[in-house]
Amino acid sequence: MKAAVLREVNQPLEVEEVGIDKPGATEVLVRTGASGVCHSDLHFVEGLYDMVMPAILGHEAAGTVEAVGELVTYVKPGDRVILCLSVFCGHCERCLGGRPVLCSRLGVVRSPKDPPRLSQGDTPFTQMANLGSFAEQMLVHEHSLVKVNDDLPFEQLALIGCGVTTGLGAALNTAKVEPGSTVAVIGCGGVGLNIIQGARLAGALRIIAIDAVETKLSMAMEFGATDVVDASGGDVDKKVRDLTDGGVDYSFEAIGKKETAEQSFAMLRAGGTATIVGMIPQGTKIELDGPSFLREKRIQGSSMGSNRFRTDMPRYIEFYKQGRLMLDELVTQRMKLDQVNEAFADMKEGHVARSVITF
Ligand SMILES: [Zn+2]
Ligand SMILES: [Zn+2]
Repeated sequence: MKAAVLREVNQPLEVEEVGIDKPGATEVLVRTGASGVCHSDLHFVEGLYDMVMPAILGHEAAGTVEAVGELVTYVKPGDRVILCLSVFCGHCERCLGGRPVLCSRLGVVRSPKDPPRLSQGDTPFTQMANLGSFAEQMLVHEHSLVKVNDDLPFEQLALIGCGVTTGLGAALNTAKVEPGSTVAVIGCGGVGLNIIQGARLAGALRIIAIDAVETKLSMAMEFGATDVVDASGGDVDKKVRDLTDGGVDYSFEAIGKKETAEQSFAMLRAGGTATIVGMIPQGTKIELDGPSFLREKRIQGSSMGSNRFRTDMPRYIEFYKQGRLMLDELVTQRMKLDQVNEAFADMKEGHVARSVITF
């Protein structure tokens, strides 16, 4: 099958022929229908996070089941599925405690002793997030996917696989935004827009969108923001405190930078909670104002929207069908696999919500 391969950081991905194994007992072979291009993919291209290469990036996908291992009963060939990187084992302490997103993930990936899922001759290939969706096919554990009973286009379903779930989940599951509260969202790309939608669904009274790009701020208003702050003018946290009664109840950082993470904490009112959603580069340290903790200000991380994706994702589809969740507007452009490097270039320019690769 064809896949876009990363062989070296800061180099373009090349489309190559890559071998894919047959499903093991608990694995599923999926024919990729569509894959979003997410900022986290770019982090690996730029070497901000380590990855063993050669690697196949991509982790926001939907497709059709082609074959299943002998122990798989959840899906059958022909079923349409959304993939999720939050593969869960189902029996560790975190899974049983209701937080499968923090699963220890033992037994859900192949061990180095097993034949690799993907390879070229003797060379094993890394699957980003155990998925690797910049490829015509994906071989995954059965606990990496959720069945979809609707005929929604793959582009929309793919976005639910990461950006939508990460954003909505940060607001609904991680921060548990309360009705009538005030919210600020730093960064209005694919994930930030979904945090805004999540805050809207939760009933937030004020939703302040913060970004340095004008077009993103106008999109943020469409997605439910009530106010915008243009970050290019500086003094972001002061502007948010001035717009509100001394700060917001909930802030979200959806960029992944030290400066904006610190801003997210500085714009809280007493008792407020900052949630870091962006992928902050390895080795980065965050500095916070110590006395703020006496005012019960909190800061926390959110991993993939603290999802329980097999229940969350079908709900998001229902929200969409009811007209309460915007998905179509997130798909800025459709591309082919060999255009993936253009998608990264457009992402760096900052004018797309999402580029989606269709197969
Ligand atoms: Zn992602
Ligand atoms: Zn587990």
